[in-house]
Order: sequence, then structure tokens, then C-alpha cells
Amino acid sequence: MEDEAAEDGPVLRVSGTHFPVWTLGPGKRLCVWVQGCGLGCPGCMSRHTWDPHGGLARTVPSLLALWRAALAAGADGLTVSGGEPLDQPAAVAALLAGAARIASASGREADLLLYTGYEDGEAEADEARTAAVRHADCLVTGRFRTAEPTALVWRGSANQRMRPRTELGRARYGPHLHRTDTGSRLQVHMVEGEGDVRLYGVPRRGELRALERRLRDLGMGLDGPSWRP
Ligand code: SF4
Repeated sequence: MEDEAAEDGPVLRVSGTHFPVWTLGPGKRLCVWVQGCGLGCPGCMSRHTWDPHGGLARTVPSLLALWRAALAAGADGLTVSGGEPLDQPAAVAALLAGAARIASASGREADLLLYTGYEDGEAEADEARTAAVRHADCLVTGRFRTAEPTALVWRGSANQRMRPRTELGRARYGPHLHRTDTGSRLQVHMVEGEGDVRLYGVPRRGELRALERRLRDLGMGLDGPSWRP
């Protein structure tokens, strides 16, 4: 794919998109991974999303077309992760506003979840970031900290907070606020023709190393995993 042109709508730089994803929020979800993150958490598994000039420019209308298709295919929600979504607040605001409008018109009860490495206070102190999350049903906030492993679902470290913000968000995420899961938390996706293995989800402590070992035992070495500096 090539960069999409700004004259076709607000542009978001993305690292990738995928549907269906089962490991980043409840149910079957469309995920949009935003490109660019300056927060630099040690141990981040998504270092390939750090470069703000990497990835692809996608227009919000083209991402919303993916959302429409995902809803038609039974999506339960949209997850926006990264990278750091709140470093592109205007485009993320447009994406979530459009996604909320489309979900409501579709008659499906589909929620919007956004991950950010900013702490609650940092996001709220900034007008553009506050506007960006206006339509989110739930946020997961806070830096990833290797020193604070957790078994809490959909969180990478114990300091990260899950914050339902709407009635739908409270109904969907309330039961999971303190739920733990010690099984595999990753969805493995092989990209046909590229030889790429993509991992979707928030791994539990040691899961990436265990997966590398399993693949090696099967004769498949990973070349340049995104979690290595
Ligand atoms: S864990 Fe998230 S916030 Fe931290 S560096 Fe990685 S992408 Fe950025």
C-alpha cells in the first residue's frame, strides 16, 4: 500500500490494521495501530511503531470504510493502539467521532477502546488529547513498566489503568477491571507471502520469550523481533 492523500480527509499515520483481533478488548475487534511514539518505555514490544515517519498515511475516511466492513462482519468493537494515538490527536478525534456515528447508525452495540501511554493527568491536561478521546467508551492509560508485571487482562503492567467512560464502556469493561488471565494473551498471525509473523495482544510476562523458543524448536527463527532494541 502507498500513502493516502490528505485532500481525501484527515490523515492518520498508522503502523497497521487488522480484523478480527480477539486479544485487545472484548469480542471480535478491528484494531488500528497508530505509528509514532516518543514515550520510549523500556521493554516496549512495539518498537517498530516508534518512528513518527514510518508506517503509512491513511485517511480517516479510508479507516472508517474498514470499520463499516468490520461491523458488517460482526465486529464487537474498535481498538486504537500504537504507537501513541494521542500524538496525532486531531486525526484520532475524527476517527473516533466517525466510528461512533457509524456504530450507532449500524444498530450494533460496538465499543471504542483506546490505549495511550500517557498517564491520566497528562492526557487530561492537554485540550487536543482530551478532545481526541471524547468518543472513547474506555481508555487504557499509562506507560508500560517492565518492573510491574501483571496478569490483569488487556494491560501490560500493573500501573496501567482501565477507565470505562460511558454506559456501554462500564457494561463491557466493568467485569474485566480486576480479571486476570495467566494463559496465552497473544494472537499469532502469519502474513501470507511476506514471511512476517505478527503478534496481536498484550503478552503476559515471559510469553514473548516462550514463543521465540517454541518457534525455534519448530525450526523458525525470528529475524529482528520488534521488541529488541
Ligand atoms: S509501550 Fe506504548 S507508550 Fe510505551 S513506548 Fe511502547 S508504544 Fe509507546
